[in-house]
Amino acid sequence: MRPNAYRVHGMMQSYFTRKMTGYLDYKGIPWLFRRFPGVSSLAKARESQVLAAWSGLGYYRRARNLRAAARLIARRHKGRFPADPQAARALPGVGRYTAGAVLSIAYGQKEPVLDGNVARVLSRIALVRQGTRTAAGRRELWALAQTLAEAAAAPGDLNQALMELGATLCTPLDPGCPRCPVRNVCAARAAGIEDSIPPRRTVRAPVTLRTAVALVSRSGRLLMRRRAGTGKAAPAADRDSAPSGRWRPSGTPSPTGGSGSRCTGRASSPSP
Ligand code: SF4
Repeated sequence: MRPNAYRVHGMMQSYFTRKMTGYLDYKGIPWLFRRFPGVSSLAKARESQVLAAWSGLGYYRRARNLRAAARLIARRHKGRFPADPQAARALPGVGRYTAGAVLSIAYGQKEPVLDGNVARVLSRIALVRQGTRTAAGRRELWALAQTLAEAAAAPGDLNQALMELGATLCTPLDPGCPRCPVRNVCAARAAGIEDSIPPRRTVRAPVTLRTAVALVSRSGRLLMRRRAGTGKAAPAADRDSAPSGRWRPSGTPSPTGGSGSRCTGRASSPSP
């Protein structure tokens, strides 16, 4: 029996894809599904309820996207994750990778997945030397993933196996080739260059920033303010929060130039 599309979608948004194989194993996710057992309950939930259920998993934009997608699925797709790849990719937070995972795992469609783990595995097996570092490499790897999915009797199982292989054995450093089930068809292993494919990114030297943080507390309670959004959509005041430099000791350089000597942050009222 195939996993439920709603749960696969939730798992894919959870970031911890290495837990996909046992897709109910990750401790936070069953709790999320118990709280919101289906698309309808998630679509009806308030954002604060979803964020509370997601608490501890990080990447809160994914929780917001999951709820927004559930609302669209409930409204436009009769509560069912759309089986059409274009419609799936039109959902908030659903790109080619997530759509491919849900459609192949939940519906058995011959759709590819390509995340960092899968890209590394395929780069090594097929000796795509640049991996996803170049547009040509990305195209080649997507095409390879597509070819494999189309040839597979169970594309969802294939995709999960590739994700799991990349997460557990075919790791960036010191891959476990002697135990690998595909070692006999791996070109990088045959050439003895598995460690250098894909090439490592150049690590930029760390930048030291000096900053100060003010905590406002009263009667054992801390003043906190919920961010109004994330990323480019966030108001400037939310993007410009510590440690990026609103509060700086006198005379210390700002990350964006100039020297800091005063607080430019806005105060907000303590919650009742
Ligand atoms: S043989 Fe080694 S490099 Fe090749 S896929 Fe397996 S773990 Fe990765």
